[in-house]
Amino acid sequence: MTAAPMLFEWQEKAMSASTEEIEQTLKQDPTLSQIERREVFGLLGRWLGGALAGATVLKAGEALASSASTNSKRRHRYGMVIDTRRCVGCRACVVACKAENKTPPGVSYTVVVDHVVEPRIDDKPLFMTKPCFHCEHPPCTDVCPVSATYKRQQDGIVVVDYDRCIGCRYCMTACPYSARWFDFNENYPAVAEQTPYAAVPSPEYNQFRKREKGKSPVGNVRKCTFCLHLQDEKGEYNRAEGRWPACAKTCTGKAIHFGDLNDRNSEVYRLLRERTAIRLKEELGTEPNVFYLI
Ligand code: SF4
Ligand code: SF4
Repeated sequence: MTAAPMLFEWQEKAMSASTEEIEQTLKQDPTLSQIERREVFGLLGRWLGGALAGATVLKAGEALASSASTNSKRRHRYGMVIDTRRCVGCRACVVACKAENKTPPGVSYTVVVDHVVEPRIDDKPLFMTKPCFHCEHPPCTDVCPVSATYKRQQDGIVVVDYDRCIGCRYCMTACPYSARWFDFNENYPAVAEQTPYAAVPSPEYNQFRKREKGKSPVGNVRKCTFCLHLQDEKGEYNRAEGRWPACAKTCTGKAIHFGDLNDRNSEVYRLLRERTAIRLKEELGTEPNVFYLI
């Protein structure tokens, strides 16, 4: 059987069978090795909590063309291109993000999902770091009753206005990628014990808010901002100067590439032109600005 019909068959199974049933069937199927890595991605959605379901393969160049019409007036279109073949699952990005944004327990702007498929289809488990995708058409912003969360006109970054947010969490429900977190005022011991670490406020949005019970962002929804506080006054980042999203700056496997998808000279533009990529849940029309190379 060729790969495409086989994939279709497996997608059918994934729609109706339980996780255990699928894994059991996969173990018994000697033909799995014929399925190319990119095609297996669609199946993995079922096993990774639904976050990856509906991944559609974008051939080289298609990724850039797919949403070019929606951002022609924007100065920048910041996005990420994440190379799943380079990610080693070390989670340095998760730690770097926490250190940069000083997020409390229960709030993690990026996570790494992983899964091992048996029999092995590659030389390692599949790891995918998953920040907010800063979607072109973000369903999270549409549902906010007080317009506290919105997509910035100048660069497409989706933000939360902590002074407006009433903590209703509608946006968390609307996000199909589970990219939003609620701040329940939990604190790491270093903060609770009022150490010097606690005295340094988070630089998020360049607001440097002191962490105090009952005051924003406690009681707000929080999310990845592509570390926009590191932009200069023109709204630009600079990797050489260290003004670059913490996860991309720290990635040990050099899997996370960040940049302006509108810039034809950028690394992200080049990668999407040369490699095959996917975005998650394409069928929803959200048009994420985070792509995965496969
Ligand atoms: Fe909104 Fe979720 Fe898209 Fe981020 S990933 S822009 S939170 S819908
Ligand atoms: Fe808007 Fe805040 Fe409610 Fe989210 S939690 S929908 S940002 S008010």
